[in-house]
Amino acid sequence: MYILLMGPPGAGKGTQAANLVQKYGIPHISTGDMFRAAVKEGTELGKKAKACMDAGQLVPDEITIGIVKERLAKPDCAKGFILDGFPRTVEQADALDGILKALSIRLTRAVDISVPSDVLVERAVGRRICKKCGATYHIRFNPSKTEGVCDACGGETYQRADDSEATMKNRLSVYEAQTKPLISYYQEAGLYSKIDGSQEMSKVFADITACLEK
Ligand code: ADP
Ligand code: AMP
Repeated sequence: MYILLMGPPGAGKGTQAANLVQKYGIPHISTGDMFRAAVKEGTELGKKAKACMDAGQLVPDEITIGIVKERLAKPDCAKGFILDGFPRTVEQADALDGILKALSIRLTRAVDISVPSDVLVERAVGRRICKKCGATYHIRFNPSKTEGVCDACGGETYQRADDSEATMKNRLSVYEAQTKPLISYYQEAGLYSKIDGSQEMSKVFADITACLEK
Protein backbone atom coordinates (compact mmCIF):
# COMPACT_ATOMS: atom_id res chain seq x y z
CA MET A 1 0.00 0.00 0.00
CA TYR A 2 1.37 3.37 -1.04
CA ILE A 3 -0.91 5.73 0.81
CA LEU A 4 -1.09 9.48 0.71
CA LEU A 5 -2.99 11.04 3.63
CA MET A 6 -4.31 14.48 2.76
CA GLY A 7 -6.29 16.98 4.77
CA PRO A 8 -6.03 20.26 6.64
CA PRO A 9 -3.95 20.66 9.81
CA GLY A 10 -5.64 18.91 12.73
CA ALA A 11 -7.81 16.68 10.53
CA GLY A 12 -6.49 13.47 12.09
CA LYS A 13 -3.79 12.41 9.61
CA GLY A 14 -1.20 11.52 12.27
CA THR A 15 -3.81 9.73 14.38
CA GLN A 16 -4.97 7.60 11.45
CA ALA A 17 -1.41 7.06 10.19
CA ALA A 18 -0.56 5.42 13.54
CA ASN A 19 -3.51 3.04 13.07
CA LEU A 20 -2.44 2.27 9.50
CA VAL A 21 1.12 1.49 10.66
CA GLN A 22 -0.37 -1.08 13.08
CA LYS A 23 -2.58 -2.62 10.42
CA TYR A 24 -0.26 -2.72 7.42
CA GLY A 25 3.23 -2.63 8.97
CA ILE A 26 4.46 0.09 6.62
CA PRO A 27 6.40 3.23 7.62
CA HIS A 28 4.72 6.52 8.50
CA ILE A 29 6.45 9.42 6.80
CA SER A 30 5.38 12.77 8.21
CA THR A 31 7.24 15.83 6.97
CA GLY A 32 6.01 17.74 10.04
CA ASP A 33 7.55 15.08 12.33
CA MET A 34 10.79 15.18 10.31
CA PHE A 35 11.01 18.96 10.66
CA ARG A 36 10.21 18.83 14.39
CA ALA A 37 12.95 16.23 14.91
CA ALA A 38 15.41 18.46 13.01
CA VAL A 39 14.43 21.49 15.13
CA LYS A 40 14.96 19.44 18.31
CA GLU A 41 18.38 18.27 17.12
CA GLY A 42 19.33 21.82 16.11
CA THR A 43 20.49 20.78 12.63
CA GLU A 44 20.84 23.19 9.69
CA LEU A 45 17.55 21.85 8.35
CA GLY A 46 15.91 22.49 11.72
CA LYS A 47 17.19 26.07 11.80
CA LYS A 48 15.77 26.73 8.32
CA ALA A 49 12.41 25.09 9.10
CA LYS A 50 11.77 26.60 12.54
CA ALA A 51 10.87 30.15 11.53
CA CYS A 52 8.40 28.94 8.88
CA MET A 53 6.80 26.45 11.26
CA ASP A 54 6.44 28.97 14.09
CA ALA A 55 4.73 31.40 11.70
CA GLY A 56 2.38 28.72 10.38
CA GLN A 57 3.93 29.05 6.91
CA LEU A 58 5.22 26.26 4.69
CA VAL A 59 8.89 25.31 4.63
CA PRO A 60 10.22 26.10 1.10
CA ASP A 61 9.47 23.44 -1.53
CA GLU A 62 13.08 22.69 -2.46
CA ILE A 63 13.96 21.83 1.16
CA THR A 64 10.83 19.74 1.71
CA ILE A 65 11.09 17.87 -1.58
CA GLY A 66 14.75 17.06 -0.83
CA ILE A 67 14.01 15.38 2.51
CA VAL A 68 11.11 13.36 1.10
CA LYS A 69 13.16 12.19 -1.88
CA GLU A 70 15.88 10.95 0.46
CA ARG A 71 13.38 9.24 2.77
CA LEU A 72 11.41 7.44 0.02
CA ALA A 73 14.62 5.99 -1.41
CA LYS A 74 15.22 4.04 1.84
CA PRO A 75 14.60 0.28 1.59
CA ASP A 76 11.77 0.24 4.17
CA CYS A 77 9.59 2.21 1.73
CA ALA A 78 9.82 -0.33 -1.07
CA LYS A 79 6.78 -2.33 0.06
CA GLY A 80 4.65 0.62 1.08
CA PHE A 81 4.39 3.84 3.07
CA ILE A 82 1.98 6.33 4.54
CA LEU A 83 2.84 9.86 3.46
CA ASP A 84 1.36 12.39 5.90
CA GLY A 85 1.51 16.14 5.29
CA PHE A 86 3.28 15.88 1.95
CA PRO A 87 2.62 17.07 -0.71
CA ARG A 88 1.24 20.44 0.39
CA THR A 89 1.75 22.38 -2.86
CA VAL A 90 1.26 21.58 -6.54
CA GLU A 91 5.04 21.85 -7.00
CA GLN A 92 5.54 19.19 -4.29
CA ALA A 93 2.91 16.96 -5.93
CA ASP A 94 4.67 17.23 -9.30
CA ALA A 95 7.98 16.40 -7.62
CA LEU A 96 6.41 13.41 -5.87
CA ASP A 97 5.16 12.13 -9.24
CA GLY A 98 8.73 12.21 -10.54
CA ILE A 99 10.20 10.58 -7.41
CA LEU A 100 7.66 7.73 -7.55
CA LYS A 101 8.11 7.18 -11.29
CA ALA A 102 11.86 6.86 -10.76
CA LEU A 103 11.19 4.26 -8.04
CA SER A 104 8.55 2.45 -10.20
CA ILE A 105 5.93 3.02 -7.50
CA ARG A 106 2.25 3.81 -8.16
CA LEU A 107 0.22 5.44 -5.40
CA THR A 108 -2.61 3.25 -4.10
CA ARG A 109 -4.87 6.15 -2.99
CA ALA A 110 -4.84 9.78 -1.96
CA VAL A 111 -7.12 9.73 1.08
CA ASP A 112 -8.45 13.16 2.07
CA ILE A 113 -9.59 13.42 5.70
CA SER A 114 -12.13 16.19 5.46
CA VAL A 115 -13.12 18.23 8.56
CA PRO A 116 -14.84 21.67 8.84
CA SER A 117 -12.44 24.45 9.84
CA ASP A 118 -14.12 25.43 13.15
CA VAL A 119 -13.58 21.86 14.38
CA LEU A 120 -9.92 21.96 13.23
CA VAL A 121 -9.01 24.84 15.54
CA GLU A 122 -10.37 23.01 18.58
CA ARG A 123 -8.59 19.83 17.54
CA ALA A 124 -5.22 21.54 17.11
CA VAL A 125 -5.38 23.69 20.24
CA GLY A 126 -6.30 20.67 22.40
CA ARG A 127 -3.69 18.38 20.83
CA ARG A 128 -1.00 16.97 23.12
CA ILE A 129 1.95 14.88 21.99
CA CYS A 130 4.25 12.57 23.92
CA LYS A 131 7.83 13.91 23.99
CA LYS A 132 9.19 10.38 24.13
CA CYS A 133 7.15 8.22 21.73
CA GLY A 134 5.15 10.79 19.73
CA ALA A 135 1.72 9.38 20.64
CA THR A 136 -1.05 11.92 20.04
CA TYR A 137 -3.80 12.83 22.51
CA HIS A 138 -6.51 15.44 22.76
CA ILE A 139 -7.46 17.06 26.07
CA ARG A 140 -11.15 16.57 25.28
CA PHE A 141 -11.57 13.99 22.51
CA ASN A 142 -8.82 11.54 23.44
CA PRO A 143 -7.30 12.40 26.83
CA SER A 144 -4.48 10.39 28.39
CA LYS A 145 -5.48 8.59 31.61
CA THR A 146 -3.31 10.91 33.70
CA GLU A 147 -3.07 14.49 32.44
CA GLY A 148 0.36 15.26 31.00
CA VAL A 149 1.51 11.61 31.04
CA CYS A 150 1.56 9.31 27.99
CA ASP A 151 -0.52 6.11 28.41
CA ALA A 152 1.78 4.17 26.10
CA CYS A 153 5.23 4.94 27.54
CA GLY A 154 4.84 7.19 30.62
CA GLY A 155 6.55 10.07 28.81
CA GLU A 156 5.58 13.70 29.31
CA THR A 157 3.07 15.19 26.89
CA TYR A 158 3.38 18.71 25.46
CA GLN A 159 1.53 21.20 23.29
CA ARG A 160 3.13 22.07 19.95
CA ALA A 161 4.26 25.72 19.67
CA ASP A 162 2.26 26.09 16.44
CA ASP A 163 -0.95 24.70 17.95
CA SER A 164 -2.10 28.11 19.20
CA GLU A 165 -5.34 29.63 17.93
CA ALA A 166 -3.47 32.49 16.18
CA THR A 167 -0.95 30.26 14.33
CA MET A 168 -3.71 27.82 13.46
CA LYS A 169 -5.53 30.63 11.61
CA ASN A 170 -2.43 31.13 9.42
CA ARG A 171 -2.03 27.41 8.88
CA LEU A 172 -5.65 27.13 7.75
CA SER A 173 -5.33 30.00 5.28
CA VAL A 174 -2.09 28.49 3.93
CA TYR A 175 -4.00 25.22 3.53
CA GLU A 176 -6.82 26.94 1.60
CA ALA A 177 -4.46 28.81 -0.72
CA GLN A 178 -1.68 26.30 -1.33
CA THR A 179 -2.81 22.78 -0.41
CA LYS A 180 -6.50 22.64 -1.32
CA PRO A 181 -5.72 22.70 -5.08
CA LEU A 182 -4.33 19.19 -4.58
CA ILE A 183 -7.88 17.89 -4.29
CA SER A 184 -8.49 18.45 -8.00
CA TYR A 185 -4.91 17.35 -8.73
CA TYR A 186 -5.56 13.87 -7.31
CA GLN A 187 -9.15 13.76 -8.60
CA GLU A 188 -7.78 14.23 -12.10
CA ALA A 189 -5.23 11.49 -11.44
CA GLY A 190 -8.11 9.14 -10.47
CA LEU A 191 -6.61 8.55 -7.02
CA TYR A 192 -8.73 10.77 -4.79
CA SER A 193 -11.03 9.52 -2.00
CA LYS A 194 -12.73 11.81 0.50
CA ILE A 195 -13.38 10.56 4.03
CA ASP A 196 -15.61 12.25 6.60
CA GLY A 197 -13.06 13.09 9.29
CA SER A 198 -15.61 14.64 11.65
CA GLN A 199 -16.73 11.19 12.76
CA GLU A 200 -15.25 9.45 15.77
CA MET A 201 -11.70 8.11 15.27
CA SER A 202 -12.61 4.41 14.93
CA LYS A 203 -15.23 5.18 12.27
CA VAL A 204 -12.78 7.36 10.33
CA PHE A 205 -10.30 4.47 10.42
CA ALA A 206 -12.93 1.96 9.25
CA ASP A 207 -13.83 4.23 6.32
CA ILE A 208 -10.15 4.65 5.36
CA THR A 209 -9.41 0.93 5.35
CA ALA A 210 -12.64 0.21 3.42
CA CYS A 211 -11.58 2.72 0.78
CA LEU A 212 -8.03 1.32 0.57
CA GLU A 213 -9.22 -2.27 0.20
CA LYS A 214 -12.02 -1.55 -2.28
P1 ADP B 1 -3.08 16.03 11.83
O1 ADP B 1 -1.96 15.02 11.82
O2 ADP B 1 -3.97 15.92 10.62
O3 ADP B 1 -2.61 17.44 12.06
P2 ADP B 1 -3.82 14.75 14.37
O4 ADP B 1 -3.95 13.31 14.01
O5 ADP B 1 -2.62 15.14 15.15
O6 ADP B 1 -4.02 15.70 13.06
O7 ADP B 1 -5.15 15.15 15.16
C1 ADP B 1 -5.34 16.48 15.68
C2 ADP B 1 -6.00 16.40 17.05
O8 ADP B 1 -7.34 15.95 16.90
C3 ADP B 1 -5.32 15.41 18.01
O9 ADP B 1 -5.33 15.95 19.30
C4 ADP B 1 -6.18 14.15 17.91
O10 ADP B 1 -6.18 13.41 19.14
C5 ADP B 1 -7.56 14.72 17.61
N1 ADP B 1 -8.36 13.87 16.70
C6 ADP B 1 -7.93 13.17 15.63
N2 ADP B 1 -8.95 12.53 15.03
C7 ADP B 1 -10.07 12.86 15.72
C8 ADP B 1 -11.47 12.52 15.60
N3 ADP B 1 -11.90 11.74 14.61
N4 ADP B 1 -12.32 13.04 16.51
C9 ADP B 1 -11.88 13.86 17.51
N5 ADP B 1 -10.58 14.22 17.68
C10 ADP B 1 -9.69 13.73 16.80
P1 AMP C 1 2.29 19.20 10.41
O1 AMP C 1 2.96 18.42 11.49
O2 AMP C 1 1.98 18.36 9.21
O3 AMP C 1 1.09 19.95 10.91
O4 AMP C 1 3.34 20.29 9.91
C1 AMP C 1 3.85 21.27 10.79
C2 AMP C 1 4.57 22.36 10.00
O5 AMP C 1 5.71 21.79 9.31
C3 AMP C 1 3.77 23.04 8.89
O6 AMP C 1 2.94 24.08 9.38
C4 AMP C 1 4.89 23.55 7.98
O7 AMP C 1 5.51 24.70 8.52
C5 AMP C 1 5.89 22.40 8.05
N1 AMP C 1 5.60 21.39 6.99
C6 AMP C 1 5.20 20.11 7.17
N2 AMP C 1 5.04 19.48 6.00
C7 AMP C 1 5.33 20.39 5.03
C8 AMP C 1 5.33 20.37 3.61
N3 AMP C 1 4.98 19.27 2.92
N4 AMP C 1 5.70 21.50 2.95
C9 AMP C 1 6.06 22.60 3.63
N5 AMP C 1 6.06 22.70 4.95
C10 AMP C 1 5.70 21.61 5.67
